[in-house]
Amino acid sequence: MSTNSDISFRDSVDQMFNQAINLMDLPAGLEEKIRVCNATYTVRFGVRLRGSIHTFTGYRSVHSEHMEPVKGGIRYALSVNQDEVEALAALMTFKCALVETPFGGSKGGLCIDPKQWKEHELEQITRRFAYELVKRDLIHPSQNVPAPDMGTGEREMAWIADQYQRMNTTDINAKACVTGKPLNAGGIEGRVEATGRGIQYALREFFRHPEDVSLAKLEGTLDGKKIIVQGFGNVGFHAANFLSNEDNAKIIAVIEHDGAVVDAEGINIENLSKFVKKHGGVRGFKDAAFVEKAESVLELECDILIPAATEGVIHPGNAQKIKAPLIIEAANGPITAKADAILQKRGTVIIPDMYANAGGVTVSYFEWVKNLSHIRFGRMQRRQEEARHQLLADEINRLMRASGIKEQLSSSFTEAYLKGAGELELVRSGLDDSMRTAYQFMRETWHSRSDVKDLRTAAYLVAIERVADSYRTKGL
Ligand code: NAD
Repeated sequence: MSTNSDISFRDSVDQMFNQAINLMDLPAGLEEKIRVCNATYTVRFGVRLRGSIHTFTGYRSVHSEHMEPVKGGIRYALSVNQDEVEALAALMTFKCALVETPFGGSKGGLCIDPKQWKEHELEQITRRFAYELVKRDLIHPSQNVPAPDMGTGEREMAWIADQYQRMNTTDINAKACVTGKPLNAGGIEGRVEATGRGIQYALREFFRHPEDVSLAKLEGTLDGKKIIVQGFGNVGFHAANFLSNEDNAKIIAVIEHDGAVVDAEGINIENLSKFVKKHGGVRGFKDAAFVEKAESVLELECDILIPAATEGVIHPGNAQKIKAPLIIEAANGPITAKADAILQKRGTVIIPDMYANAGGVTVSYFEWVKNLSHIRFGRMQRRQEEARHQLLADEINRLMRASGIKEQLSSSFTEAYLKGAGELELVRSGLDDSMRTAYQFMRETWHSRSDVKDLRTAAYLVAIERVADSYRTKGL
């Protein structure tokens, strides 16, 4: 729980769930089945490091098994606790349902400050944690498939996959036991960028609907929009990078753990990223003004606010002062339930976490499918597609010549048209489709029901209805 938070993250998720469920007509028993977290496993294990035994506490929580495997990241942070893991597992259930990835919800966490340990120590700790989870089928290609979250990334996922393989030497699908792996260890193109890319696709889809844009008191497209990003890690960096480079939005402030940097003309994201990689924070970055009191930067004038750090950062203490008319929750649970009510009253449009950051799990789904099919996407059709395009281009050029037209298809068009889709193009296309489709389901509920006042409630309604359907089909 954030120090400024009114209630715990879990209570916040519960409250938002309740608001939605009150608008539904589910039997009480089914409602309770969907609400509760099925199981949480707590493990305390020792690892001999630096000459003595250190005990670590970890969790893996399974919220709902209406579909299996269950899916959800593993977080490394000192703040990890059972409540948080369970709240995040519940969000995973609804997120997967909303973007139609065929998984139940799960989440894991280890109470650790990864910065305090050297790489080989972290590997020992991760392998031991993975061992404990694999032993209980809490990591398993057909039962429970983790992914990265705060404090973990490709490196940890590769260790986990290898640990599973060592313990299951004849499992032909072993690589599918975890997603977010490096490409050379069974990963997929576009997974690292996926959550940030999903934020970009979500915003693009939002701006395709002028009716929704005007509800946020905005107009036009993403071009020139002033954006504030909190958290410059995997999600925040990629979102800021794509939005500034490809949609011409202006990132006017970046908030990090050690302060914030502000430039009304727009920050050069690549330069900032190089600086942060070298110095571990934004303090000292010369090309923008530094603000010591980082949190106050959340309250600056802007068009779009992207909290991409952690939960509970927008709370009753600052919600009144947030000026952004549009907030897209890249982090999980950045707005507490009370703050959400305050912002709604003020007319702020919130694109909820459950939808906004679903890019990660969507591409994880593609990676899992790739691992189970043992072939990279595009390998069979790419050259055939190029050959067919070549045939068409040649025929058009021949017809133009035969008709006495001197012009031929331009080389830039021909090059772009001939290029068959590789894995990255296919992953981006699948992600874009998933983000667009899910948004359309949400907005349909948002606009068609007078009792649904916001996108978050709409997201919960769509997701809960799908989970309920799944339980009904199972005969529960
Ligand atoms: P990360 O560890 O790569 O980056 C988080 C960044 O936020 C770090 O740079 C950290 O210094 C900064 N930060 C932490 N607390 C802060 C604070 N109070 N103020 C300002 N900066 C702060 O983590 P990430 O993977 O980018 O995840 C960020 C959020 O996105 C989390 O809520 C996570 O659950 C969510 N998320 C991540 C993914 C994913 O694929 N990585 C997918 C879905 C959701």
